[in-house]
Amino acid sequence: MDRNAVFRKQKLQFTVLNFITFTLIFALFAIIILGQVQRSMYTQTDAELRSFKERAAELANRTPGEDMPGMGGGGSGPRSGEGPYGIPFRPDSGTVPPNPRLTVLLWDESGQIINQDQLGTTFYDTYFSDLSYNTAAVNEIRTITIQDSFRYRTLIYEHPDAENNVYATQLLINVDAEERSVASFQRILIICTVIFILLSIVTSLLLSSRTMLPIQRSWSRQTEFVENASHELRTPLTIIQNKLELLLTSPQERIVDRFEPIAVSLSETRRLSKLTTDLLTLARADSAETVLEVQEVQLDQFLKELSEPYAEIAELQDKQLLTTLEQELVMMADPERLHQLMVILLDNALKYTSEGDTIGILARREEQRIIIEVSDTGVGIRQENLQAVFDRFFREDKARSRSDEHGGAGLGLSIARWIVSAHQGTIEAIPQAEQGTVFRIRLPLR
Ligand code: ADP
Repeated sequence: MDRNAVFRKQKLQFTVLNFITFTLIFALFAIIILGQVQRSMYTQTDAELRSFKERAAELANRTPGEDMPGMGGGGSGPRSGEGPYGIPFRPDSGTVPPNPRLTVLLWDESGQIINQDQLGTTFYDTYFSDLSYNTAAVNEIRTITIQDSFRYRTLIYEHPDAENNVYATQLLINVDAEERSVASFQRILIICTVIFILLSIVTSLLLSSRTMLPIQRSWSRQTEFVENASHELRTPLTIIQNKLELLLTSPQERIVDRFEPIAVSLSETRRLSKLTTDLLTLARADSAETVLEVQEVQLDQFLKELSEPYAEIAELQDKQLLTTLEQELVMMADPERLHQLMVILLDNALKYTSEGDTIGILARREEQRIIIEVSDTGVGIRQENLQAVFDRFFREDKARSRSDEHGGAGLGLSIARWIVSAHQGTIEAIPQAEQGTVFRIRLPLR
């Protein structure tokens, strides 16, 4: 499958996954809110019904036989110092006044409403005429529908009173308003949820595009890395193969007579070995497998020892190596990686200089940082390549590097940059005023 098709498929999967997640979250949110609203819809009315019943019972206990006649329907007004239906109510006592929507029906033993006159004739005729006494619903709050359209919460409780001919009381509160509000809330909630779910399609698409970006980038980088690596590996392998085949054409000859193909094969093998080590270092760096072993390093001493063999090589090549090291420079670093970094820079300095050139190593403290510089008066780096030299497989002059015995694969400086950034530092290539390059490294002290 081609790369774009893979990306498209992955992006579609991300979009669908995001969309499903968003839809589930919105739907769950709507269900919970709606459930909560529906559950609490009758809380207030039910509390009112229960409290009315309790207060009526309280009153009956205090003034036996007096309360019931006072408890008329919606038509009977409150007596002085009392709430409707004769239930005492003092505004300063914190008690809730009976709901004006509350209707009280008084039933006799034969199942007839005995306070019809208090309900108002029109009221009674049109609303409660088809209501019958339901023994099954006693002491239970229920929702009933009157005249097929009006919804009431109702509570029936029995308290036989032969004197007043009352057998039971039925309390009713109309809940049409509550139900209408909940229904309209439900409509709004459903519309909003659908709008949000539709919006989440766009969001999911945008999100998955964003999620895919780093994956696409690292995929391209990885592919490029593998392509470059195999190309670099193939070149020395082809040379070795050709040289060995050449040797096989004359098996009788002595080694001394076939020195050139053997020496070239050996040098290419060395190059291969260095290349595979570098590739492995970068692959480990990418997968964050390499852990720095940080310890205290006496930098001036460290650089002095490290530069000695390089000074000798430089002398052999008619070059000069100068060191300027501030005394007592102590820092926290991984000495092995620091050594590898300096080797890369010094190898390059030797590689890209000619007879009479000078190579310099400088180390100094600057505020809370250590500055290390490796400079040379060699061929220098073109202005436009000053950043690119740190990229993997970058070489300014590919032909020269390849033909040159010491020509690398362009991995050295990318390893150097990784080592520096693993130490939370920075590295830059700066052109020298006259000629050559300075590699300046800034590292934190700890
Ligand atoms: P290589 O193994 O090819 O030297 P590097 O990553 O170490 O790979 O360097 C990348 C490129 O940067 C080199 O090919 C060279 O063109 C350039 N370069 C590095 N160091 C120097 C230097 N001191 N002077 C001039 N050019 C340099």
